[in-house]
Amino acid sequence: MSTDPRLYVTQDLKSGQAVALPKEDTHYLVNVMRRSEGDTVRLFNGRDGEWRARLVEASRKAAILDPVEQTREQTGVPDLWLLFAPVKRQKTDLIVEKATELGVARIAPVTTARTQSDRIKPERFALIAKEAAEQTERLDLPEIARLEKLDRVLDGWESSRALIFCDEAGDETDQPWGGARGRGRPMTEALAGREAGPAAVLIGPEGGFSEAERQRLRDHDAVIPVTLGPRILRAETAAVAALVLWQSLNGDWQG
Ligand code: SAH
Repeated sequence: MSTDPRLYVTQDLKSGQAVALPKEDTHYLVNVMRRSEGDTVRLFNGRDGEWRARLVEASRKAAILDPVEQTREQTGVPDLWLLFAPVKRQKTDLIVEKATELGVARIAPVTTARTQSDRIKPERFALIAKEAAEQTERLDLPEIARLEKLDRVLDGWESSRALIFCDEAGDETDQPWGGARGRGRPMTEALAGREAGPAAVLIGPEGGFSEAERQRLRDHDAVIPVTLGPRILRAETAAVAALVLWQSLNGDWQG
């Protein structure tokens, strides 16, 4: 396992084509990681696999790398999206980081009836996803979609993509957490026997989904309502739990 620093770059990676790092990465590599000429670094760009590259120039102002050899073939992650309603900032950042580690292809923040924070900073998400992808040794970054209303997303939904609706409540509104009637099935049961096609997980905000949202989702032909057990999980816990379940059932955790 290499301990060389690992960096995502946007440039093509091929022998003989030097790569100049942007300012932030130069600072990280030279000043924080204290690397100097001759040291090696691992680079990936989402297209050309992973390359070992040698630092040919390392100064406060510039870091130039020479790609030496490709060390890993390019592979992607399963076609899994995460749709989630932004919650408090730190928790939302955690969701973006964990979703990246758990191998989602696309992260799509959605506003729902009870979403508190309807302002997100895409560039912050992009930075969190880049750092998580570097650490988790992915060979690509998740796509970060712009914030959209859930209703708009549903209007244009491709029905070939299963929408796994993590519903925290059953339909018996006079029962605690909506009782059992109408509660979604456990993920393992709900996904059993379905071929593993493109999928998305949907996680609601702290206040959960509204009745109207629940109705629209349950009437939608691509939606699979699932329960994540008898306890109410925080959104960030539910996101991790649902992604772990999907990866182990249908994704690239199958070995
Ligand atoms: N409505 C609850 C909490 C919502 S938790 C309240 O008001 O306290 C935030 C999101 O996590 C939910 O909308 C749902 O998508 C997911 N979630 C949490 N616990 C869940 C469970 N037991 N089953 C399915 N989804 C769950």
